[in-house]
Amino acid sequence: MQIYISGQFFDKNDAKVSVFDHGFLYGDGIFEGMRAYNGKVFRHQQHLDRLWDSAKSIFLEIPMTKEAVEQAVNETLQVNNLKDAYIRLIVTRGNGTLGLDAHLCSEPKVIIIAAELALYPKEYYEKGLEIVTASTIRTNPGMLSPQVKSLNYLNNIMAKIEGHQAGCIEVLMLNAKGEAAECSGDNIFIYKNGTLHTPPAEAGILEGITRRAVLEIAESAGMKVKIAPMTRHDIYTADECFLTGSAAELIPAVKLDGRIIGTGKPGPVMQDLLKKFQAETKR
Ligand code: PMP
Repeated sequence: MQIYISGQFFDKNDAKVSVFDHGFLYGDGIFEGMRAYNGKVFRHQQHLDRLWDSAKSIFLEIPMTKEAVEQAVNETLQVNNLKDAYIRLIVTRGNGTLGLDAHLCSEPKVIIIAAELALYPKEYYEKGLEIVTASTIRTNPGMLSPQVKSLNYLNNIMAKIEGHQAGCIEVLMLNAKGEAAECSGDNIFIYKNGTLHTPPAEAGILEGITRRAVLEIAESAGMKVKIAPMTRHDIYTADECFLTGSAAELIPAVKLDGRIIGTGKPGPVMQDLLKKFQAETKR
């Protein structure tokens, strides 16, 4: 496996960053998780735009143009002979001192790792995920906007550990108001009484690229869509629930906190949206 670091490719075992990199010391950096289908990155521009927005928000100057990063991502796919892949694009603050001062950091580093897909196991697409609510809440937007896809994922990791302890591979995270925000690495949707619902950005979520694609697909199919605050009660009593993410695509969730959602099986609306989504990824 060849890994791109700031203009050069390194073998997996030689791809290293300094222990003084503030990405390592403080989680001071940003990232994107993208998918390539048949050699082409899905919604590449949207991922780059989100990366640049994250960078702007944390005063991080990406030392390359968007076009150069796009090309580097494509080259990483080619060098590794990958057509269908998961791509991790990372920008760290670069090497600094043991202090917090970001101004003492040298050039930010751009790192690209492309690997074989790491989807949820197939059985979960067939029978659906059982999830629980984590007691760890999603980052409060007053602390750090969840729109910033930062290297600081510790609260999501804590939530995922809680899920693991409950025997679940994904968990629902609430915001400080007690509303449903999203899952540890996926956005959440429900379908109820003929309407597709998902929480708004203000609920403290990362606005997923997959979420956006699903909303567009639903709207162009003439489906009623509502972006509004969502409670756990709404999810318990929904007809269907599913999660979205670049790695997962669309995956059904059939149980939350022991309550069976709908029929307890992947629902027809989700399955239809997944089919349409996959058709788009093939285009
Ligand atoms: N929420 C969080 C917290 C995430 O980390 C991700 C990406 N893994 C998502 C939602 C889904 O975003 P996308 O569809 O852009 O992958």
